[in-house]
Amino acid sequence: MSDTLSALLDMTRTLGKPEMEYVIIGEGNTSCRIDEDSFWIKASGQGMHMIAPEGFVAVRFAPILEMLERPPGDLAAQKAVMQAAKVDPSVPVVPSVEVTFHAMLLAEFGAQVIGHTHALAVNRILCSSRAQQFATQRMYPDEVVLCGPQSAFVPYVDPGLPLALAIRDSARRYADEHNEAPKVILLANHGLIVLGQTPTEVLNITAMTVKAAHIFAGACAIGEPVFMSREDIQHIYKRPDEIYRRKQFVQR
Ligand SMILES: [Zn+2]
Repeated sequence: MSDTLSALLDMTRTLGKPEMEYVIIGEGNTSCRIDEDSFWIKASGQGMHMIAPEGFVAVRFAPILEMLERPPGDLAAQKAVMQAAKVDPSVPVVPSVEVTFHAMLLAEFGAQVIGHTHALAVNRILCSSRAQQFATQRMYPDEVVLCGPQSAFVPYVDPGLPLALAIRDSARRYADEHNEAPKVILLANHGLIVLGQTPTEVLNITAMTVKAAHIFAGACAIGEPVFMSREDIQHIYKRPDEIYRRKQFVQR
């Protein structure tokens, strides 16, 4: 097994640990870049906690990204493209149905590793009227340091290709506004996507997003949450000592 796959396997099993309450059964999916042309992604239907190396499939970027530019007519045609995009067509598994957003985020937004989960604490908020508020506001400095000055937000759309296109729109808007890719993308009525440079960074940002969700829910239960000002957020995000700390969090 390659080092890349081994690191993705460890990260996926950690995200899938039952005590984390990030996913159950076959929920969630993960991916990481192999090289310029291809990436590993969790195969469809695999549980994350006990996943084996055979639960991942190597896929070529080009045919998947082409689907976003010229969407095939129906689901059967999309499945045929996903099957044909496998680096080794003989492996029995097929890529996750969310392969399109993984390919797009790895290719266009500079991520090396992606973790998508349906974390219980986060989904409680994403299934409420406060979902967008949670995405756009920040409550405490370490949330800013790890998760960025805001999260990108995507209203509910059908999983698969329509969702990948909506995520691309939201991530592009975020990148235009902030001059960098989002670290966290929150999907209304669905879950979260974390973009990282290493598996450790994806684990850390996921954990901090879940902690922020617990704090947000608690603050809403007590009264109105008190958010940081945009000025304080920018100050924390750009402070040299916090940038140094953030770099330490990225390391394996
Ligand atoms: Zn999902």
